[in-house]
Amino acid sequence: RIPVKILKIALATLLSVAWIGAGQTLAQDKGTIGISMPTKSSARWIADGDNMVKTLKERGYGADLQYAEDDIPNQLSQIENMITKGVKVLVIAAIDGTTLSSALQQAHDAGIKVIAYDRLIRDSGNVDYYTTFDNFQVGVLQAQSLVDALGLPAAAGPFNIELFGGSPDDNNAYFFYDGAMSVLQPLIDSGKLVVQSGQTGMDKVGTLRWDGAVAQARMDNLLSAYYTDKKVNAVLSPYDGLSIGILSSLRGVGYGTPDQPFPFVSGQDAEIQSVKSIIAGEQYSTVFKDTRELAKVTVNMIDALAENKEPEINDTKTYNNGVKVVPAYLLKPVLVDKTNWKDVLIGSGYYTEDQIK
Ligand code: BGC
Repeated sequence: RIPVKILKIALATLLSVAWIGAGQTLAQDKGTIGISMPTKSSARWIADGDNMVKTLKERGYGADLQYAEDDIPNQLSQIENMITKGVKVLVIAAIDGTTLSSALQQAHDAGIKVIAYDRLIRDSGNVDYYTTFDNFQVGVLQAQSLVDALGLPAAAGPFNIELFGGSPDDNNAYFFYDGAMSVLQPLIDSGKLVVQSGQTGMDKVGTLRWDGAVAQARMDNLLSAYYTDKKVNAVLSPYDGLSIGILSSLRGVGYGTPDQPFPFVSGQDAEIQSVKSIIAGEQYSTVFKDTRELAKVTVNMIDALAENKEPEINDTKTYNNGVKVVPAYLLKPVLVDKTNWKDVLIGSGYYTEDQIK
């Protein structure tokens, strides 16, 4: 026979397990949020997805996270599926910001709110909110780091610079480029900076799908067409994945030695490979965007929507998507170079020291 005391303990344990179980189900009852991310080929989007799921779970939501591997029809069908499954809110980082209008109309008709995540969705009135970083400021930081590294405007120059832009189907790419040119154009006009290739403007310098191989091939062409008897002193690169391609092209023609150091090359996202490259004195800088913060402000919005309150926004004028100005919450990007990577990236707990070694 089992002693009564043991039976009592067993019963109490069973009850408390059932209780915790019920609590968890209750928490998940806040509904499922659909998260559509562009690609796993870049670490930043993996971090975005992970941080979104983690933050949603902490606040009692379920999450349906999908990656579209940079394939536009794939992203579209993933989003349509989420709508069919009845997600409460859609959070979308678009591959091509102009191709989602019909899906967003379906979402709207089904009463599903849409938050554009990091990248603005264009040409649709059914984008309710936008959470992102100050994208113009990202470009300013990238260009300013190159200008400071060259010692401009005090230095006599002239210095040679080449420009790279992001993907022309990503609204952010124009903001990065315009922000950068707000710093560089006056120096180009005064002759202190020279673009030997003459290639300026997003139509000339854009890099489809943010593809590092495409940037590398373009840098190869620039070097062989314009720099056989000249040196490149700086390269504006809007994203770490492009910076890696650009640096390997430069390495291919002999840069990266004590006699012929690399030009100053900017970047974005503080991806681990680029942080290591900065520490090794190759890439010059990057821009850190704390995806934990982006997840937090996005989930704050979702919470507000769930409670029928007005979500917190801090920008109502910048992001016109062609149909409307989308109310936005903008976070601050931070420049990272060899002087502050430890404070910013390790100090904040974003990376561990082991990951960077
Ligand atoms: C993001 C950047 C990222 C780029 C490439 C942009 O939309 O804002 O952080 O570097 O896409 O993935």
